[in-house]
Amino acid sequence: MSVSTDESSTSYPRSAPAVPVPAAWLNFPRFLPEKMPPPQDAEGGSALELMTRIRLRAVQEQERSDDVLLPVPEEVRRRYEDIGRPTRLTRARALETYLGTPARIYLKREDQLPTGSFKLNSAIAQAYFASHEGVRTLVTETGAGQWGHAVQYAARMFGLESIVFWAGVSARQKTSRRAVLSMLGATVHESPSPVTAVGRAVLESGRHASGSLGTAIGEAISYAAEHPEVRYISGSNLPHVLIHQTVIGLETRDQLTALGEEPDVLVAAVGGGSNLVGLMGPFLERKSARGEGLRLIGAESAAAPRLTKGTWRYDHADPGRMTPLSKSYTLGLDYELPETHVGGLRQHSGSTAVGVLRSSGWLDAVAYEEREIFETGRLVLRLEGFLPAPESCHALRAAIEEARAARRETVIVACVSGHGLLDIEGYLEAFPVQAV
Ligand SMILES: *Cc1c(COP(=O)(O)O)cnc(C)c1O
Repeated sequence: MSVSTDESSTSYPRSAPAVPVPAAWLNFPRFLPEKMPPPQDAEGGSALELMTRIRLRAVQEQERSDDVLLPVPEEVRRRYEDIGRPTRLTRARALETYLGTPARIYLKREDQLPTGSFKLNSAIAQAYFASHEGVRTLVTETGAGQWGHAVQYAARMFGLESIVFWAGVSARQKTSRRAVLSMLGATVHESPSPVTAVGRAVLESGRHASGSLGTAIGEAISYAAEHPEVRYISGSNLPHVLIHQTVIGLETRDQLTALGEEPDVLVAAVGGGSNLVGLMGPFLERKSARGEGLRLIGAESAAAPRLTKGTWRYDHADPGRMTPLSKSYTLGLDYELPETHVGGLRQHSGSTAVGVLRSSGWLDAVAYEEREIFETGRLVLRLEGFLPAPESCHALRAAIEEARAARRETVIVACVSGHGLLDIEGYLEAFPVQAV
């Protein structure tokens, strides 16, 4: 494949000028087309009360706030700078040339953060709040491992301990990331595990044996319920996490303005919706004004096709039914998720915020097979020089399809949610190493 390096054809620079790290997160729910239906208890259940007890106070206050902007504490802002925020917004010129498209493709490079994904944006905020509330130990779940990695990184920053329930199939696949987590000193349990009541019940049921984000969520909550000194933190789905991630879109908005660009299409991979809403939340006012002039696209895994095949209704987020009922696009909690390498998108339900965007017609959705997305990752490596996370390949594939279809100048912005260097096991399966 030959790629032209001639850049004289356009005056747009390779990457956006520097912008400041946002001083406040955006309270995006105010800008949704409809109010988010609140979580509910199942009949006779007490999950709402439990979630109030085991979660950090600060994040619950953020979710109740009516303010448009929620200040980023000065120390968190400093830490954001330490890890390399603002992340770069780069132009994918080689990819554009290869596609022969009139579109300009911009990539928001969250993959360049030190744990290799955007998850640190919320992990640092939550670890900071925990340290201020006198909490010493955090418990959480992780799907592909990126959130668990970010939590352990942030926990070390603030002198805390972390306990991570990791979807069993991913924990076994991703030996590279597991090695890093182990060196960082994290306590990891493969879910379903015998450590919690929920894990034992799942194991006895004989179902969901390979584990998923859902089984891990149930176990992390169960662990916090059984250990009152521990706080449960979540890496996606819940509104406060999505709020923390709006730093992605706030920076992108400033970076595009500095370039004199107005986006026509925003794309993100979608699991629980935190990088999607993080990128798109700060553009919802414009979406409201521009209608079809600004397209929002969520790219999901065909192995967990919630937005393309699921139904918009109340469901638990975990098969152990520890979570309250929340409204989202769901495949039903008994859906057996295939064992893919796309752990970050592998759940049966999703977030209410993404559901509202989808049900109101603001968000388009596409789903890709695992084979297709690894091919996208290899193409991006060959052209742009970096290996995207399997999850991020979904967004990149959607961006490529949009660029292929473009008949006139179109500004496409894709969130590169993470890099794939610690997901190499999945790439190896897709592209076995050739003798050289
Ligand atoms: C966690 C993760 C995702 C999916 O999570 P969302 O909450 O939907 O954003 C996507 N990409 C990467 C790299 C991740 O770590």
